[in-house]
Amino acid sequence: MTEYKENPRKPHGEDVLGRIRIILVEPSHPGNIGSVARAMKVMGLMRLTLVRPAHFPHPDASALASGAEDLLARAQVVDSLSLAIADCHWVYGTSARDRHIAWPMLEAREAAQEMFQRGKEQEIALLFGRERTGLRNEELDHCQTLVQIPTGSLYHSLNLAQAVQILCYELLMASRGPTQLPDPEETSAPASAAEREGFYGQLEEVLRASGFLQEERSEQMMRRLRRIYDRCQASSNEIHILRGTLTEIQRWATRQQGEARG
Ligand code: SAH
Repeated sequence: MTEYKENPRKPHGEDVLGRIRIILVEPSHPGNIGSVARAMKVMGLMRLTLVRPAHFPHPDASALASGAEDLLARAQVVDSLSLAIADCHWVYGTSARDRHIAWPMLEAREAAQEMFQRGKEQEIALLFGRERTGLRNEELDHCQTLVQIPTGSLYHSLNLAQAVQILCYELLMASRGPTQLPDPEETSAPASAAEREGFYGQLEEVLRASGFLQEERSEQMMRRLRRIYDRCQASSNEIHILRGTLTEIQRWATRQQGEARG
């Protein structure tokens, strides 16, 4: 089990996530607390605070944490929300309902991006409400921003741990920035115009010799073939491979001609 340790260096993504606090207000099912711990840990969040949990510690919490028992062991249990957020600079509150009061409201993805940015400099807390009744207005009064997870139109209320999971996932994605897995071909040099022309010239030779290209329509056909090959945006290496296939066909054709003559 990997233990989380605060890293005193300038915060990188993981350190920022590890500091963001998830606060559950009066959770009634201990199993949900365990599932929340697991949902957090797999996404790199490590700080869990419980405000007046109905049952904690509890075997159901440990069973559902399954690999995230260390988070439960270190969870802070407090008597009041004010205590839980006393040293926080910005508090986000989650809500399944549209509240008709003037709290600024963000959707999960946007909120996670903002939280992650703020978390580089500030103490951030994200509050989740009771399974049945959510957060009360007087608790939302402690929040500077409300967060809503978009849902289908028929039902808006997620299971507590699943709501935590989605927000932690969005936080992890925010911490990773817009990077994507590198396409291995992107790392090889792009083909130059001269390389492409070399390939098209050789392709035309082969297709002419094979009888595929007929004089009257050859220009138009070559143009269409260029469109097809251009779509795959072959790299320099790939052009090399394509030319290799043509060279082998040419050698084979020459051998065949030799055999026919001999
Ligand atoms: N009936 C309650 C729902 C409670 S669900 C209500 O209307 O608020 C338990 C908790 O899960 C909520 O307090 C909230 O923290 C979170 N949650 C569930 N669905 C959510 C959603 N669509 N957006 C944001 N948080 C949600």
